Amino acid sequence: MQITQIRNATLLVDYAGKTLLVDPLLAERGAYPGFAGTANSHLANPLVDLPMPLAALFDVDAVLVTHLHLDHWDETARRTLPRALPVFAQNEADAQSIRADGFTDVRPLAAHGDTGMIDRALDSMARVFGTRRAQLERMLVGTWTHDWQRDPFSRGAYSYAGVGGVDAHKELAKPLQSTLFFAGEATNGEQTGTVAGAIVSGRRAAAEVRRRIKP
Ligand SMILES: Cc1cc2nc3c(=O)[nH]c(=O)nc-3n(C[C@H](O)[C@H](O)[C@H](O)COP(=O)(O)OP(=O)(O)OC[C@H]3O[C@@H](n4cnc5c(N)ncnc54)[C@H](O)[C@@H]3O)c2cc1C
Repeated sequence: MQITQIRNATLLVDYAGKTLLVDPLLAERGAYPGFAGTANSHLANPLVDLPMPLAALFDVDAVLVTHLHLDHWDETARRTLPRALPVFAQNEADAQSIRADGFTDVRPLAAHGDTGMIDRALDSMARVFGTRRAQLERMLVGTWTHDWQRDPFSRGAYSYAGVGGVDAHKELAKPLQSTLFFAGEATNGEQTGTVAGAIVSGRRAAAEVRRRIKP
């Protein structure tokens, strides 16, 4: 698999001879105002130009739209991408919005239900690990899925530093009595509010635990 980061969340994923365009944000540099309430709200988005001509991104096999926020599926993508391209969406609500822009082949992944998702996950794990699916099924202990879209308690949030809170992440990351260790994006001062920050913080907390167990 080859992954090329284009800009923001926009990626090209080449896998098994197919090219997938993920979360297209295709507007010209500076087309949208900065995000209100953030440290860089005065900077217009996107911050940089596309590194290739727009039309070069149309020559793909399919598009994957993880969700409909402007920085993952923007006006320019909605207006310019070829209407017949297959577009994968997370659920029927997103699919309807994408179809309303004239896209004719929109496929909501949640429509496959729990068993369909597990079926697809097993297929792709077998491909990724180069093993037979039957062998994976023999090793499988159990599966579990959760639909965050339908969970009334899942509201989605991430941290940001308020005025005077530049060092708050260090406080949040401090272990309690060398027994309780904390990970999570809010404990990372450099990549706050991102999956990358969460991963780095998890590694840091795991190293702390390891040092505690084996000094
Ligand atoms: C709408 C939205 C869009 C985003 N887009 C992007 C993006 O494009 N790129 C990017 O890098 N980041 C993005 N983020 C941010 C990213 O999702 C978070 O930074 C990341 O998920 C944080 O990971 P985490 O492990 O620190 O916390 P979380 O993923 O929030 O995990 C915390 C877990 O703890 C559980 N929990 C909470 N309290 C308890 C309790 N008392 N007992 C047991 N469990 C508990 C929660 O249910 C949750 O599963 C986005 C966030 C949102 C909300």
